[in-house]
Amino acid sequence: MRAAPRLVPEPVGANAEFYAWCARGELRFQRCADCDTWRHPPRLACTACGSTRTTWSRASRRGRVWSWTITHQAFDPAFADEMPYAVVVVEADEGPRIVGNLQGIDAADLRLDLPVAIHLEAATDAVALIVFRPAGDDAGDVR
Ligand code: ZN
Repeated sequence: MRAAPRLVPEPVGANAEFYAWCARGELRFQRCADCDTWRHPPRLACTACGSTRTTWSRASRRGRVWSWTITHQAFDPAFADEMPYAVVVVEADEGPRIVGNLQGIDAADLRLDLPVAIHLEAATDAVALIVFRPAGDDAGDVR
């Protein structure tokens, strides 16, 4: 049981659609309907060709650690029981970089290019957050 409620995103605009897919258990990124470039975070236009025609394509849910930081100070009391924890930037196999928490591995064992699986963890009925686990951990999403 958590000591305090956690803050969760209140998505608006293009982010609302991204989080709606996550809440349904699907990781999808925007993809340009004209040049097929993947993009995240969601934007109104393609950064490669400028097109505003967009699809939401299902992602592989695989990626590699691109960067991270270890948090040792509980600035939010809701995280006090989890110190220290890692906030990780992963480059998804499709190319977009996404931020999430790491589970299932000690922070000391983090390394660049570590293969990870991308999971979704329900934070509320309407919001699921991204969680990374070492590749091969098929524990599934947390509902
Ligand atoms: Zn494009």
